[in-house]
Amino acid sequence: MSCIFCDIVSGEKPSRKIYEDDHVLAFLNINPITPGHTLIIPKEHFENLNDISELAMGKVATISKELADKYTQKLQCDGFNLRLNSGKVAHQDVFHLHLHLIPRYDDDGLDLMAKRNDTQIDLDQVHSRIVS
Ligand code: 5GP
Ligand code: ZN
Repeated sequence: MSCIFCDIVSGEKPSRKIYEDDHVLAFLNINPITPGHTLIIPKEHFENLNDISELAMGKVATISKELADKYTQKLQCDGFNLRLNSGKVAHQDVFHLHLHLIPRYDDDGLDLMAKRNDTQIDLDQVHSRIVS
């Protein structure tokens, strides 16, 4: 099964690499939302949030924190959105798990917050389903 992010890991497909170790690769998104929009991936192919091992998830999360500190200094960004789309319904397009590190700038004018859903959600019912 072909996977563009596995092709990036193997070097078959070029990327603008930001960080690499034995387990994690970070590279610039080819279609950035803001300057510095970076994808952080496990080198091993995991499809989504359910599929990935806790160990690998910890490693990509750790690198996203390190890059956030680096970008604050190098890009003078003012904040971040750290985003993970898992599953088609969540707009995952590439089925090799990745974190989006999206630097935010005071004047970037983006509204990435989901609009509030006006259906009535029964918080007590949802809570009991989760904790029971
Ligand atoms: P998703 O919707 O799956 O969370 O996001 C996939 C992201 O991968 C998109 O933001 C898209 O711009 C990025 N992307 C897709 N193909 C490539 C590629 O070949 N190279 C790079 N650097 N980014 C890619
Ligand atoms: Zn892959």
